[in-house]
Amino acid sequence: MVLRVAVIGAGPAGLCAARHLSAEPDRYLPTVYEQTAAVGGTWVYTDRTGTDEHGIPVHSSMYKNLRTNLPKEAMVFPDFPYDSSLPSYLTHKEVLRYLENYAENFELHKYIQLLTRVDAVKPIHVHDAVKWQVTTFKVTAPDSPITEQFDAVMACNGGRYSVPYIPVISGTDQFQGRTLHSHDYRVPEPFSERKVLIIGALASEVDICVDIAQVADSVVISHSNPPMIEIHNLPANITQAARVESIVGPNTVRFQDGQEFHADDIVYCTGYRLSFPFLTPECGVTVHQGRAYPLYKHVLNTTYPTMSFVGLMHHATSFSLFQLEIKLALGVLDGSLSLPSKAAMDQEIDQDFKTRLEKGLTPRQAHDIFPLYLSHITELAMVTRQSDPQGQTSMTMDSFMHLFSDPQHFRNAEYKITGPETWERVPGQGEKQ
Ligand code: FAD
Repeated sequence: MVLRVAVIGAGPAGLCAARHLSAEPDRYLPTVYEQTAAVGGTWVYTDRTGTDEHGIPVHSSMYKNLRTNLPKEAMVFPDFPYDSSLPSYLTHKEVLRYLENYAENFELHKYIQLLTRVDAVKPIHVHDAVKWQVTTFKVTAPDSPITEQFDAVMACNGGRYSVPYIPVISGTDQFQGRTLHSHDYRVPEPFSERKVLIIGALASEVDICVDIAQVADSVVISHSNPPMIEIHNLPANITQAARVESIVGPNTVRFQDGQEFHADDIVYCTGYRLSFPFLTPECGVTVHQGRAYPLYKHVLNTTYPTMSFVGLMHHATSFSLFQLEIKLALGVLDGSLSLPSKAAMDQEIDQDFKTRLEKGLTPRQAHDIFPLYLSHITELAMVTRQSDPQGQTSMTMDSFMHLFSDPQHFRNAEYKITGPETWERVPGQGEKQ
């Protein structure tokens, strides 16, 4: 019997799911639903913010000058190399072209329904089996829903990086300047000659800070990064500050160490809410404070393991990890992977969460990989009997470290692959160590 699998989203994760499902036509028939007009997910840049021309919230968080924060050698599908003439660090257009080529090479377009949004997913019991009722609508005809039945569902909707999270800061209502979340950041020009406060300082946030500093009068970046990701070698008009304590005037921000700053604008680089708006309560997955529960290995819904989530893990290698997650989901569907009991899986999930809190992580870091949980990738590779992308994992770690040690120049470096899992980094021009 051929299993019908609904894949939600045609970003890198959804394309990878379609590629591996369609490789076994006697076993699977994928249908990929994509709400926008193109494949590529967050790598499809748009000037638009807010909603698109069909009234759907803009999904992509890409900004115009973005170049990758990982070298291409660490963000590659194992079975589809990049054009070798490209440098290690790519523009978003080059990544998009890679993804388009991937879709074309594996002839995925015939499985993809563009401009189709998944509205609701619900498990139903048919005889003794669990099936999935998936309700979609064409974004051009939102009042005409279509419901179809599937054997499995893969959520590849990029639920990790598209709905802004803004923390509550006391006094925010009296701030008279402009505020923006990094999801809506596109170009630096509106910040020309202004005093800008950036709140948050992880990878893309440091990049946005450097992008804005090219035109701003001054930029203050407020954060509480741990010592291992302290930021060095920033442009001269950027200073670092402690966490924001409160807004104390129409344009005045007070930090936890008592210092104050006059801010014309605030850019919240404070991350995203996990978002799976199509989940119905019957799916048995809750999303609370950045944690989706209960997901075995951060992928499988333990109540109904024919539902999987790809791309939930945070601060990790991306494309090769997606492939491992998809292999885990396929292992359940083809029966090659025997899962522990639900109680045992839930116990493992609870233990993982408890250990994270004991190590000082917050609930919102329930699915973080970098820097403490790199072994998760090795474990997934073992469970799925795939090769461990150790080289990519260590390059990811290395690239993150260089991003924080010299955000302006680290992209001038090149990574050379020297063996199956070994590599060498050739420092770039102007780079400070
Ligand atoms: P996405 O790329 O977000 O794709 C999800 C797709 O699902 C979208 O096309 C969306 O339209 C669609 N969709 C969502 N909901 C629905 C629905 N209900 N119905 C139908 N379709 C739906 N990763 C790296 O490896 N290197 C980097 O340098 C890097 N830089 C980044 C910079 C920024 C600013 C951001 C935001 C992320 C960056 N990432 C980077 C991570 C990036 O998110 C991943 O590389 C990758 O795009 C995630 O793939 P995905 O398929 O899970 O999600």
